[in-house]
Amino acid sequence: MRAALDALEAGKRALAGELWASIDGNQMLEAWNAQVKAMRDKSRWPDSLFEPPEVWGEKTTKPLTTTLSSAVFERDGYRCSYCGVPVVTQRRGGHVPGLVTEFGEVTPWLRVVDGSLLGSGKSGALRNVDVGKWLWVTAVADHVHPAALGGPTEMWNLATACSNCNYSKADWTLTQLQVVAPRIPAGAADSHDVRVDVEW
Ligand SMILES: [Zn+2]
Repeated sequence: MRAALDALEAGKRALAGELWASIDGNQMLEAWNAQVKAMRDKSRWPDSLFEPPEVWGEKTTKPLTTTLSSAVFERDGYRCSYCGVPVVTQRRGGHVPGLVTEFGEVTPWLRVVDGSLLGSGKSGALRNVDVGKWLWVTAVADHVHPAALGGPTEMWNLATACSNCNYSKADWTLTQLQVVAPRIPAGAADSHDVRVDVEW
């Protein structure tokens, strides 16, 4: 998908269309569903996941705004902070609407109206089958320390994640996942005592 975007950006329209068309959304969705199913098999999970999590406070209710998410994606260079994969956005003016607008014939079930992406669901809602082509790499601003455990909705506790990493991480802490730290650029953290250490 990224290759299609790169080709489009480089002005290689035919190549971009070809690459975009070659992504098998159904296959991606099947792989996604298989992974979700495998995750339910708790017998294969490491013991560390069952260690009691560090609770910072009440569940965070401050909403994640589009502006804040965009700032996080910008800061992280549109790459997943956990696995490094380039991510895409489906927001107004984002990468996905760009491809859908440019190559409407590849995804006839999708349309962009006034900059917003509409799918085949009720009132144009996006369904999983609609987004198979980019399901794995959609940008999500992830609460590094989970919001459910009191991780605040602030830049220093947010990291760009691909859907895959975000979904896999769920409400687990980095300690439970045995992950050292996501790649949040230096300077992003503020003076909070329990901030995540930066490690490149
Ligand atoms: Zn990732």
